[in-house]
Amino acid sequence: MAKTHFSLIAQDRIVYEDDVDMVILPGASGVFAAMARHAPLMATLQPGEILVRKEGEADRYFAVGGGFAEVRPDEVIVLARSAEAAEEIDIQRAEEAMRRAQEYLRSPEKDRDIERRLAMEAALRRSLARMKVARKRAAVRARGVEQAPLPPQSEEQE
Ligand code: ATP
Repeated sequence: MAKTHFSLIAQDRIVYEDDVDMVILPGASGVFAAMARHAPLMATLQPGEILVRKEGEADRYFAVGGGFAEVRPDEVIVLARSAEAAEEIDIQRAEEAMRRAQEYLRSPEKDRDIERRLAMEAALRRSLARMKVARKRAAVRARGVEQAPLPPQSEEQE
């Protein structure tokens, strides 16, 4: 199967880079798959999960805190606001971030500062994405599943 070169770049480091078969990305307007010979595409990403599939290897999961993806026929580049491999995620830290954001969003403070509220909403989505990715990895390991069923994709792409 033809490979595509995937680079996942966070602000301070390259999180992952390899020739892979498929990358599933959380586009702002829906989840989509990128593989070799994909039509050129630029997409905004929302906080969520990235799945990387490589023949003969277990799927890899990453949490991404939003960013941009550039898809070309032979490569996929993600410039991420933040990104972590599933095994790097500190679940307790993500839970604390989630609780902080939820508390703020339940408090009367939330109506006083729109920028802070948007920042807390984004922090909440990042924390939920991190927990989902970390827990999925644990579940996949427990079941011994090497390649999980792919998530449904939206038909609409940017
Ligand atoms: P927190 O409030 O816990 O710092 P955050 O969402 O504000 O969370 P970011 O600004 O997105 O944090 O990330 C700052 C750095 O910390 C990045 O390098 C990111 O990869 C890393 N990071 C954030 N949360 C976690 C986590 N739960 N596990 C591992 N690394 C994390």
